[in-house]
Amino acid sequence: MGLDSSFCWNMDTNVVIIGAGIAGLAAGYQLKNAGCDSIILEALSFVGGRMSSEECEGFIIDKGAYTFPDAHRNLRSFIQDLGFKDHLVPTSGTTSTFSGGREYRIKIGSPMDFLTYKLLTGRNKRDMIKLFVYAQSLGKALDIGRPTSKTFDLERQSAAEYLLESFDEEILEKIAYPIFSEVFLGVPEQNSKLAFLATIKNLTTFKIFAFTEGMGVVPEQLMKELDVRLNSPVVKIAAASREGLYEVHVGGENPRSYLAEGVILAVPLPLVINIVDGLPEDLADGFRSVRYAPSIVTALAVDREYPATSMINNLLRKDDGVIATVIFDHHKSPHRIPKGKSLVTAILCEPASRRLFAEPDGKITEAVLENVDKLYPGFADKLVFSKVYRWSHGAVQLMPGSVRQQHELRKMLAELRGNLLFAGDGLYKSSLEISFNTGVEAANRIMERLGL
Ligand SMILES: Cc1cc2nc3c(=O)[nH]c(=O)nc-3n(C[C@H](O)[C@H](O)[C@H](O)COP(=O)(O)OP(=O)(O)OC[C@H]3O[C@@H](n4cnc5c(N)ncnc54)[C@H](O)[C@@H]3O)c2cc1C
Repeated sequence: MGLDSSFCWNMDTNVVIIGAGIAGLAAGYQLKNAGCDSIILEALSFVGGRMSSEECEGFIIDKGAYTFPDAHRNLRSFIQDLGFKDHLVPTSGTTSTFSGGREYRIKIGSPMDFLTYKLLTGRNKRDMIKLFVYAQSLGKALDIGRPTSKTFDLERQSAAEYLLESFDEEILEKIAYPIFSEVFLGVPEQNSKLAFLATIKNLTTFKIFAFTEGMGVVPEQLMKELDVRLNSPVVKIAAASREGLYEVHVGGENPRSYLAEGVILAVPLPLVINIVDGLPEDLADGFRSVRYAPSIVTALAVDREYPATSMINNLLRKDDGVIATVIFDHHKSPHRIPKGKSLVTAILCEPASRRLFAEPDGKITEAVLENVDKLYPGFADKLVFSKVYRWSHGAVQLMPGSVRQQHELRKMLAELRGNLLFAGDGLYKSSLEISFNTGVEAANRIMERLGL
């Protein structure tokens, strides 16, 4: 692609950031606070990526991410500093698992509730205690951000292989499957023993916060303070003929090019391969090796209340083929839902998300409603509207060997010369906190390299 005629060696900005998800926005905000200009280019017509929400007929819908666990310390304190202190509220943390049409309720992070949790037999509970004690004993080896050789040993097997070999199918189906559906949007066959142990290690201290006005409020506020250009899909990044500068080419309806000293790519890593010109082959292989599960989220508004439900409801795969998790949004804040009505956000299980990804919205809604109606009879009759959101790169899957590959990839990126930097969840695992942190780090590093 050639540059347009208005192109000259005047830089458009210090840094161009690709992607206005939380990673790109965090990078832009950090740069702005340090007095460094940036332009954020976003392919879609809205800001926030997987951290976004929209209002529809008085309902506030989270389109992707919907919770802030306790551990998201940096992002939570950033949000509070932005002036949204009162918007972050702890939820009741109630969660249910449905099995054979029956609901089993437990409070997340409550060891006492665990002891009386009827979904599990006495033997299951003993197995869980063993697993929990084992996970605690592994200490720092479970830190997937700073892996050791012991960490790599723990990711030789998938979680499913490990649990079937050392425990039994009940732990796989009643514990591991809901955890992987909920936290990784995946399945235990596609994630490692390490990913499982690292997750259960923190379960007893887990608390969940929600954002009362919808996740999108934070990105929308950041957009007001930053130079974000929507509907600007970046199709190519190349070194400019003047050394040290980058040309960033936008396609779509209004193609144009930008010239900058530095570029931060804050998009899912497998997408980078299509954009960056002349990427070293080992780096391209590293990006290719990062696996994401696709994810479909459906929002279903109904004309009746469900006051007694749990916030998060997990479905076991032997009973239900389509949905993994059903969230009742009034638990995040009653103000998000018009009086007398309810909003359910249903997240499809990984195989169904894959199978139905290209299907029309109507077909997806039909399959989801059939599933939800089995749990809450009469639900479908009260439907006011439904919405479908598709995420081609929903969440990173930590398959056996992934943490080692990501570790190698981060080493390669640290050694990479030039002012091309990367941020986002693909460098570790999917979470808002990780995208936020990697965005801030990329901004700090690029300022250091540019001497700003
Ligand atoms: C259904 C679902 C539920 C989740 N729940 C939670 C949760 O409760 N808590 C939690 O912590 N995490 C959750 N996550 C994960 C979390 O949402 C993500 O890890 C995080 O939002 C990723 O942010 P990001 O900025 O790295 O990427 P993204 O949000 O994906 O942002 C990348 C942006 O780049 C844009 N882009 C891509 N290609 C281009 C291009 N060529 N040119 C310009 N722009 C481009 C995209 O349109 C997108 O806006 C969930 C994810 C999903 C899908």
